[in-house]
Amino acid sequence: SKLIVAIDGPAGAGKSTVTKKVAKALHLTYLDTGAMYRAITWLVLKSRIALEDEKAIAELIKTVTLCLIDDFKQETSQILINGENVTKNIRTLEVTQSVSLISAQVAVRNKLVRHQREIGCSRGVVAEGRDIGTNVFPDADIKIFLTASVEERAKRRLIDYESQKLENISIHELKKDIKARDYQDSYRKIAPLCKATDAIELNTDGLTVEEVTSQIILICKS
Ligand code: C5P
Repeated sequence: SKLIVAIDGPAGAGKSTVTKKVAKALHLTYLDTGAMYRAITWLVLKSRIALEDEKAIAELIKTVTLCLIDDFKQETSQILINGENVTKNIRTLEVTQSVSLISAQVAVRNKLVRHQREIGCSRGVVAEGRDIGTNVFPDADIKIFLTASVEERAKRRLIDYESQKLENISIHELKKDIKARDYQDSYRKIAPLCKATDAIELNTDGLTVEEVTSQIILICKS
């Protein structure tokens, strides 16, 4: 049957980098669920709808089309919303600071979780997010919960920002953002960020991407 690997954890724990590599090594589809919440957030901002206007947002997303293109050979993935490629646009600070308000809305989660399950039904996936092991795929074959200290996560995010030349941001601002998102994602009413009881917790402080990746691959193969 199709293998489902769930990788959850807080912002900046290193999920994306590692999940891409694990998906490539196991020849599975990389499913970035955070990118889906970010794309909806980008659309809401572009449409000039207030982030708290749940009714208008529910209406907006009724007809939305999301398309994820995964190229595991290149370790890249693209995301299109209503046909527009927003792969870069969804990484801005504005989207990052708005996404937790959008991802806490019932209509948004219902829509995206249904889409995520459809993808997982049709092929094997390595999915990363906040509620994959607890909610999206509670029967996942393997569940990993990645953590790291706020210090380490902010440092990694800074390197990301600098290498992608996105915008200027200080380590202080990144720490603030990480803490705020952890809080909002952990204390929201639906599908909050939390470790599944049967997930394996990996603290990645001081570990390289390669070390974390090979540990997860070992777990998947054992
Ligand atoms: O992983 P990433 O930082 O791209 O996720 C962006 C945001 O999307 C998270 O802060 C969270 O609010 C939301 N999210 C979620 N459930 C997921 C994945 C992401 O609520 N499975």
